[in-house]
Amino acid sequence: MTRFWSLLKYTENYKGLIGASIVCNILTAVFTVVSAPAIIPFLQILFGLEQAILQEPVFTWSLDGIRNYANYQLSQLIQAEGKSGALLYICGGIILIFFCKNLFRYLSMFFMGPVRNGMVRDIRQQLFDKVIRMDLAWLTERRKGDLIARVSTDVQEVESSIFNVLVTVFREPLVIIGSLLFLLYVSPQLTLFVFVLMIFTGFIIGGIGKTLKKKSAKVQDTLGNILAKLEESLSGLRIIKSFGAESFRSAQFAEENNKYKDLLTHLLWRRDLSSPLSEFLGIVMVAILLWYGSGLVFTGALRAESFLAFLLAFFNVSQPTKAFSAAFYNIQKGMAAVERIDSILAVEQQISNPTSPIQLNPFQENIVFKNVSFSYHGSERKAVQNINLEIPKGKVIAIVGASGSGKTTLIDLLLRLYEVEKGSIKIDGVNIKNIRLKDLRTRIGVVSQEPVLFNDTIFNNIAFGLTEVDKKAVAKAVEIANAEDFIEQSPNGYETNIGDGGRKLSGGQRQRLTIARAILRNPPILILDEATSSLDAASEQLVQAALKAIMKERTTIVIAHRLSTIQYADEIIVLKDGQIVERGTHQQLLSEKGAYQQFVQLQLTFGGD
Ligand code: ADP
Ligand code: MG
Repeated sequence: MTRFWSLLKYTENYKGLIGASIVCNILTAVFTVVSAPAIIPFLQILFGLEQAILQEPVFTWSLDGIRNYANYQLSQLIQAEGKSGALLYICGGIILIFFCKNLFRYLSMFFMGPVRNGMVRDIRQQLFDKVIRMDLAWLTERRKGDLIARVSTDVQEVESSIFNVLVTVFREPLVIIGSLLFLLYVSPQLTLFVFVLMIFTGFIIGGIGKTLKKKSAKVQDTLGNILAKLEESLSGLRIIKSFGAESFRSAQFAEENNKYKDLLTHLLWRRDLSSPLSEFLGIVMVAILLWYGSGLVFTGALRAESFLAFLLAFFNVSQPTKAFSAAFYNIQKGMAAVERIDSILAVEQQISNPTSPIQLNPFQENIVFKNVSFSYHGSERKAVQNINLEIPKGKVIAIVGASGSGKTTLIDLLLRLYEVEKGSIKIDGVNIKNIRLKDLRTRIGVVSQEPVLFNDTIFNNIAFGLTEVDKKAVAKAVEIANAEDFIEQSPNGYETNIGDGGRKLSGGQRQRLTIARAILRNPPILILDEATSSLDAASEQLVQAALKAIMKERTTIVIAHRLSTIQYADEIIVLKDGQIVERGTHQQLLSEKGAYQQFVQLQLTFGGD
């Protein structure tokens, strides 16, 4: 339960509303408690049991005092209006009491509405903010579907199973305590009896609720799997279709889907047991109470009308008790979701802003890799090893090497998407660990092999992440990126939506958009990671021209297969298994007749250029 109370930290921003709701709850409780004894005068008159009090008693704030005073008023009423007239008044009174009770009940829920939904919003936002800032290393280890499930359905689960019963948790104890006090006043003996019965049933119900949390956690996990399958299938639809693998995928999905169904059914069976069970136990309690209580009435230890009021008050207790036990169930069920959410929120970010960042001046000198080594989590192999490299301002450095030789890793280390294990990377002598992430990354523009675009307009994709973007600047970037033609031919020009991941565009068009995006940001350092390797010859030429244009006056790291891009580089680095095996200019390396020469041979033979 401690975790449940830890949820209260989310109530911080809603103190006013919660206060209002609690006040309404107290009023609801008061009117609920009062509604039971209100029936007493009615019964007294109906059965002719009243004893007229004709002298005004001294009013005191005690239960007896109130009762005597009420009886006196009642006697006055009967004298003035006659019996049936008095009954009419009493009926009116009962209506009024129940009206107030329900009015405040509604108001308490009314005030809680924004609180529940607000808290859900806060949790969801926190989760999103956390996930979006999380280390890449952490994210690659996780299934996307599982994260989606946590941000969407787990949060929803918390709302429906925990916040939904928040009103109950705040209100019902008041009603229970109030009613119990009244019960105690009418007959301590009977109340003790009721109390024992209640504890007994509480135990039975609690036992069933216990396993609910574990089951619920499993249910949410499976839902995560389902979402993962869905997400993967949707993004891989093209491949699934062209491999004719629809039925295969469908069967995989059906398996998870079935598992989910079965788990959910078991969960429902258990949860649905709570209501019939508590009703049955309730009626058993009432039957025992009727038998026991009527015994007391027969012996004269209890007055008949008090017994009836007692029963009514008991009903007032048993209703909220039932609601309470339902709440208990729901909370158990929801706590699994809370734990799944907390486990995300609790993850510590490994790569974050330095505590005392060093202000970076405009890029002046160089980038220096010194003895840099790194291996991916869980991998024995070093992805890059002992890299020493200087990239002076204004120069073009090319990195070549077989696929898997560590080229992209080197870039990711520079961007601090991963943290170097040994050695250091410095920009103008400042270790990148001491630079604010944003400062570092805005200085570096990346055009990657896989163009990453969002389901939005062309304009917004180019201006992505920037606020207050000048239209002219965008047009200029587009011009340099050689993207004018196809944008103009698009149905709505800049306002054309490009579909999920830019699916409505060709590979070359997508690439040119990402280039325009990099140009617009005007970074002093530019990284081209195989930016043209997936393009056909015609679009490659367009993209090449665009790249040449932006490499001017910038410091550039190019990773490329194509000779045309690398042969003019100031220095060429040849990577093999994460290590630099050769370095020099195109001519120098050719004359060495080593790995680079082989690489060039392959290019020429298989028509790279
Ligand atoms: P390149 O860009 O030269 O093709 P990479 O830098 O992407 O090569 O990869 C270098 C090595 O690191 C490869 O052996 C690859 O399998 C491994 N690798 C790349 N990314 C990850 C990752 N996220 N987790 C584990 N290993 C990785
Ligand atoms: Mg790569």
